[in-house]
Amino acid sequence: MNNRVLLRVEKLKKHFVRTHGLRRKVTGIVKAVDGVSFHIRSGETLALVGESGSGKTTLGRSVLRAIEPTSDSLTYHLKDDDGEIDFMALDSTDLKEIRRHLSMVFQDPYSSLNPRMSVLDIVGEPLVNYGVMRRKGQIQERVAELLRVVRLDPEYMGRYPHAFSGGQRQRIAIARALSLDPQFIVLDEPVSALDVSVQVQVLNLLKELQDELNLTYLFVAHDLAAIEYVSSRVAVMYVGRIVETSATEEVFRRPRHPYTEALLSAVPKGDPDNRSERIVLEGDVADPANPPSGCYFHPRCRYAKAICRERTPPLIDVSASNEAEHLAACHFADELELAGVGG
Ligand code: SF4
Repeated sequence: MNNRVLLRVEKLKKHFVRTHGLRRKVTGIVKAVDGVSFHIRSGETLALVGESGSGKTTLGRSVLRAIEPTSDSLTYHLKDDDGEIDFMALDSTDLKEIRRHLSMVFQDPYSSLNPRMSVLDIVGEPLVNYGVMRRKGQIQERVAELLRVVRLDPEYMGRYPHAFSGGQRQRIAIARALSLDPQFIVLDEPVSALDVSVQVQVLNLLKELQDELNLTYLFVAHDLAAIEYVSSRVAVMYVGRIVETSATEEVFRRPRHPYTEALLSAVPKGDPDNRSERIVLEGDVADPANPPSGCYFHPRCRYAKAICRERTPPLIDVSASNEAEHLAACHFADELELAGVGG
């Protein structure tokens, strides 16, 4: 894929101060995202995957400055724009202007839609906030168009969220996210609150919209089956850092990090003869305020050796020279023969 790089993130950090008691005594610094770098090309889907507490949702929100990163370089190169935009340098006026091109869909369509607003108001609100349209007829026309885009009947625009199923609510949330013609959307676990039968429908819709509207997605999820279905590349996160990234098929078939292997072992196998062992990870994701020494994964890693407790493995290219880039942060990435899925 030779499309332009739409988003480039360099060494992004988001640290939170942990406090205790009435006096709010500082007890630690939570490094929720700790020096993450990646890029996303126009028209592709990069999936961020990891267990709860890995930092993927914080990272997803930080790239939109929905929460302010602690320090980093964030640049966007949008369509019809001559050069790269230094997103962190924007003041509030310019930030609002650029945000027209960026959007987000949240996990829970039951809490993300205001129950006191009609579908017309929910989907049309960004148009009003940005002063794109003012006349009611004009807004109704645009909302009707957006509802058709997400395969909902425009007749529903006078109804309120409680009248809809979970899948329909998520379609309404997607229609709202599309209202200002964005180029880039952060999808934060967009199907995990939905029934399994509805999940595929919403994922199919997102894929169709990507093709129709040339959208670029950052897809935050823990469901590896959904990730394999929608994404072109994957970044695996553990305790605020990316530990492996490559093309989706490459990561699924030939994982190079033991954490990825453990996550993949939970994916249901299509082939009944493929009964590879499910790897149960002991304990929880490490505390990002007090991570272990060396490789953060070492207390849970079945391949850990002495060096893993002492030295932090860098994220380096472990691909053969004729393959697509494949980065992994493991001292033994070249030696381990890890089990993937498929192929
Ligand atoms: Fe496991 Fe060591 Fe590799 Fe970390 S560096 S993933 S502990 S083998």
